[in-house]
Amino acid sequence: MIFVLIVKVQIIINMPKPVFITNYFTTVGCGVDRVSTCNLCGKDYNRPSGSTGSLRNHLSTKHPEEFEELLGLERAGAEAEVQRLASKQTQKSQELRHQSKF
Ligand SMILES: [Zn+2]
Repeated sequence: MIFVLIVKVQIIINMPKPVFITNYFTTVGCGVDRVSTCNLCGKDYNRPSGSTGSLRNHLSTKHPEEFEELLGLERAGAEAEVQRLASKQTQKSQELRHQSKF
């Protein structure tokens, strides 16, 4: 159970930003057969290119509340990424300072 949770958290952390939109859709197939179905109303979208534009459009017009939630998730994700990069940077400069002592 805990293992599953850790894997899930890692998947969320490793995913690129557009992934949040796919939380609201179930996607099957790939390439020209790729179809995403809205989890909220069941509308199907063919997405041969894999782009999420039509999905975002659907969510923003048909499910504005969920779209707001999505924007919040994306903001939080972006902030987490900025913090991650910032802490990496700090670590590096500390390493450099350490090395220059010798
Ligand atoms: Zn829908």
